[in-house]
Amino acid sequence: MDAFIKMDRKSGLVWRRQFLAGMSAAAALALLPRHSEAVDTLPATKQLGVALVGLGSYSTEHLGPALRMTKYCRLTGVVTGSQTKGQVWANSYGFSSRNIFSYDTMARIAGNPDIDVVYVVTPNGLHARHCIAAAKAGKHVICEKPMATSVAECDAIIAACRSAGVGLSVGYRLHFEPHHLEFARLAREQSFGPFMQMTGANGFRMGSPEAASSAWRVNKKLSGGGALMDMGVYVVQAACMTKAEACPVAVTARLGPVTRPALFSEVEGSVQWTMEFADAAVAKCVASYDQTVGHFRAEAARGWAELGQPFGYAEPTLTTSQGPVVFPEMNEQVAQLDGIADCLIRGSRSPAPGEMGRRDVAIMQAIYAAATSGKRMVVNT
Ligand code: NAD
Repeated sequence: MDAFIKMDRKSGLVWRRQFLAGMSAAAALALLPRHSEAVDTLPATKQLGVALVGLGSYSTEHLGPALRMTKYCRLTGVVTGSQTKGQVWANSYGFSSRNIFSYDTMARIAGNPDIDVVYVVTPNGLHARHCIAAAKAGKHVICEKPMATSVAECDAIIAACRSAGVGLSVGYRLHFEPHHLEFARLAREQSFGPFMQMTGANGFRMGSPEAASSAWRVNKKLSGGGALMDMGVYVVQAACMTKAEACPVAVTARLGPVTRPALFSEVEGSVQWTMEFADAAVAKCVASYDQTVGHFRAEAARGWAELGQPFGYAEPTLTTSQGPVVFPEMNEQVAQLDGIADCLIRGSRSPAPGEMGRRDVAIMQAIYAAATSGKRMVVNT
């Protein structure tokens, strides 16, 4: 297990147990180290240079700003279709215009000593091409979710990173978020017994088909699918986390009605599915582009745990049958970027490795197969 998680456990275990034994939220809060402070206690090392591939909304609104606050990495380059836009980023973030690349010149990153990590933030259908180009350039790779549009593409990314000897992480920011880490601990340590019933949903109401960030999301080739690939992957992740990262053995699924044909001619607007695990635990899940929704709940013989607004950008909440569990506010992208940088610097395994991204794509492919055939589908990993 990676150093970041080990350190988190070491520093968090005592107060967490006290908290669950009935401490007040305020008292627990006072004892709690901030996630970023936990990283601050690591020995100082060099900052890794990160190049963002794709300067769309997630890069602009979240990853770029986070890279101004990270301790173990900083923005040193971009890959973009627009040299002008790249120059605006170079001026704003203070890197050389030599570090602006186009999608066609990514191979030249190989000779650039300022760039250690390439973070792929393009539409899902382009992840494989851009991750493989980054690996071939000899740079560590972070790939946004979902990892790719097929298991074959995931395999190609994993193989390229292995053969280049570079690290590979998926941009699963919630693996660095304390409410989710605490939920994962409750599941792993079976504090209430094994969680056997789970329910979860994630969705938002998509706007016009013309909006730039909607257009590729409803284009099957670029997205790989609709609400499931974009929103449902978070619920798949939460269910697997609740089963200590086990993969479900089988799934059943049903697509929702086509509510807005102008948007949903190629991809689904909503989907419901059930994941069955080897110990007979069951997760009933929903993903939607039709309604704003976000929750996850798990029940065991001796208690339950529930995450509120677990998947969006707002601070999640965690409540268990023993009361609320409160963590101080933190920036998920800063924690994720520094957590992954820390793993790369130490040479330890990422908490969100490529194999996990591949597992989730395999599960989602089984969900689509189940929805299309109307049959229970075994998940092949
Ligand atoms: P976006 O549409 O805002 O940005 C996509 C970027 O890719 C744009 O800069 C666009 O110019 C570029 N691009 C390159 N080739 C393209 C092509 N052929 N067609 C369309 N765009 C092309 O999308 P986004 O919301 O930033 O999402 C990008 C990726 O990040 C997706 O994989 C998405 O799932 C992921 N994402 C992750 C999170 C998270 O919380 N982890 C949040 C949002 C998005």
